[in-house]
Amino acid sequence: MRDPDVLIVGAGPAGLAAAAELTRRGVGDILVIDRDDAAGGLPRFCAHPGFGIGYLAVPRSGPGFAASLLHALEGSGVRLLCGTTMVSLDAGPTVTVTGPELGHRVLRPKAVILATGIREANRGNRLVPGERPAVGVLTTGLLQQTVARKVPFPAGMKELVVVGTEHVSFSAIWTARHAGLRVRAMVDERAAVASFAPAGWMARAFGIDIRLSSRVAAIRARDNRVAAVEIETGGRRETLACDGVVFTAGWIPEVAAIATGPIGIDRTTGGVATDENGRTDLAGVFAAGNMRHPLKASGSCARQGRSVAATVASALSSR
Ligand SMILES: Cc1cc2nc3c(=O)[nH]c(=O)nc-3n(C[C@H](O)[C@H](O)[C@H](O)COP(=O)(O)OP(=O)(O)OC[C@H]3O[C@@H](n4cnc5c(N)ncnc54)[C@H](O)[C@@H]3O)c2cc1C
Repeated sequence: MRDPDVLIVGAGPAGLAAAAELTRRGVGDILVIDRDDAAGGLPRFCAHPGFGIGYLAVPRSGPGFAASLLHALEGSGVRLLCGTTMVSLDAGPTVTVTGPELGHRVLRPKAVILATGIREANRGNRLVPGERPAVGVLTTGLLQQTVARKVPFPAGMKELVVVGTEHVSFSAIWTARHAGLRVRAMVDERAAVASFAPAGWMARAFGIDIRLSSRVAAIRARDNRVAAVEIETGGRRETLACDGVVFTAGWIPEVAAIATGPIGIDRTTGGVATDENGRTDLAGVFAAGNMRHPLKASGSCARQGRSVAATVASALSSR
């Protein structure tokens, strides 16, 4: 396979919108890679409405937004390779990728747009003590992928505790309910619900116990499965029986493949450092979407992908 003019790493809203804008501006040779088994990024797994605001005329569900971004690329000649991971990035730019179609390969595009998104802080990132069961410790992403990929939950799993009260925490409740699981409680160290107040009122109306100014002090297990969480509020501990605990939010920009390379990382956001046009400090390398600043909504990430693509197109035409 020949080297592309532009390599886009990540086929979420930012990467796909960037690809569409590049083709609209006449850039002909674009390769989009994604390590996942299909394109669409995080929205693929979020079946609720509210995606694409500010980018689409009418917002859609997560999978609907992903489908419309892909639809815009039909017939454009953009090459899309899934199951293909960027493993490192160096000056040039040179990008080492690995995947079933390319094998282990070094690509030398004229420009690279990084759009690798974010991931959530899991139990390990949050240093939550206690037992370490194999079953029942999740993140929102894992919960949503389990549901979207129709993987059955372990028999007997019924009640969850959600850690966090951000928008995404309520998205986790929505997914859990659709999977037939009940959320028993939400726990947050903050003194108020981090999402919109009505989200908290609704959750309480559904019988969810919201514990604020509280933290998960330990996870307890039985037969290698989550059996309870210990909640600490103002120095007092209480045990809540549950079958699973879902850690939500705590966003970490997905910079694993570049963190030890020559590219600068913004110490405040943990994402790639860029100027306002998405230029990184490595010539020919740009960045868009949540990997720059967690967590923006999908429509904002797509709009940013589009505007970074405009910068890349004009940089290529002036070469
Ligand atoms: C549970 C949840 C609910 C949400 N609800 C809403 C909502 O209601 N409305 C809304 O607007 N937004 C919502 N969002 C936010 C929205 O999903 C994000 O803003 C959006 O997906 C960010 O787009 P992105 O392209 O930056 O990154 P992503 O969508 O995260 O895409 C990044 C892609 O990069 C790929 N990738 C990562 N590393 C590599 C690598 N090394 N090599 C190759 N590929 C790589 C990943 O596989 C992924 O497909 C929600 C997010 C979550 C998690």
